[in-house]
Amino acid sequence: MDFLSADSLPWLLPAQQRLRDCAAVQRLPHSLLLLSTPGLGAEQLANWITALALCESGEAHPCGGCASCLLLRSDSHPDSHIVRIEEDALQIKVDQIRDLIEALTLKSYRGGYKVGVIEGAEALNANGANAFLKTLEEPTQNTMLIMIAKPSHRLPATIASRCLRMTLRPPAPEQAIAWLKANSPSAQDWSAALELCAGAPLLALERQIAGGADLETEMQKTMGQLAEGSVDISLLADSWARSDSLLRIAWLENWITRRVRSHLGAATSLQSAEPVGLPAALLKAKIRALFELLDAARDFRRFASTGMNQQLALEALLLGGRTALGNEA
Ligand SMILES: [Zn+2]
Repeated sequence: MDFLSADSLPWLLPAQQRLRDCAAVQRLPHSLLLLSTPGLGAEQLANWITALALCESGEAHPCGGCASCLLLRSDSHPDSHIVRIEEDALQIKVDQIRDLIEALTLKSYRGGYKVGVIEGAEALNANGANAFLKTLEEPTQNTMLIMIAKPSHRLPATIASRCLRMTLRPPAPEQAIAWLKANSPSAQDWSAALELCAGAPLLALERQIAGGADLETEMQKTMGQLAEGSVDISLLADSWARSDSLLRIAWLENWITRRVRSHLGAATSLQSAEPVGLPAALLKAKIRALFELLDAARDFRRFASTGMNQQLALEALLLGGRTALGNEA
């Protein structure tokens, strides 16, 4: 388990400080709900908190060198348990939760804390959530449960209300860009990459490594073809559905927003670029078509995880895109 890297993510500092203060007075929370969008380092933070609870150095931060820290670093600490969704599964299984509860109920192997981490807690089904309600209500001594979920999580209120909540927010763009420049050999325009990733530096870095730099060129070209009507919609939908559809949709949303803004002039802010923010009569047809495309893109993102048919949804969206862009020309 890598818990030392949390120290190199400066935007986690306030959260770390808060937990340090709790640890200093022996008041670590029994259950903690970390709300975070992907790419902000919530997993690293959960690992760091685990190490903070288990470290045997008596210092105000995990030392990295005591017996407990060394066991953690080699993924063999008997009092650390991590549950995450199994590959190809749609939900965290009840059995995984039962095993975790059992482990947390047993006596600590090393005489200190026992820490359970549930990554992607929104993937708990109702049975799984109910299974550990009792653990939350009657926590055994020196037990800590950390759940990581998206801010839009669908965790039952009975669970969420029993946890201390901490919400991770993206760092200020300047801080994120400084961090990206220091952590990547590439000299690309990080502000655009960050915007695509909703300000999440780790995600921007990951995507850049995965070849995100080429996406801009490819998508610009595709938009040109879409406007000309020179691209096969169903082939295009197929290729988007196969690779990074959400990233492409995020790119599209940014692109449309910039376009709407350039049509409306600088007076309109990004936030008010909602159809309801403008009197319908004032909306020119071409702008209305762009807004419809923007809505379709947002809906796609919202429903992408619900098992909808991506191919069909993308075809509909791209057909709308061809109309909107064709109008514009
Ligand atoms: Zn230690």
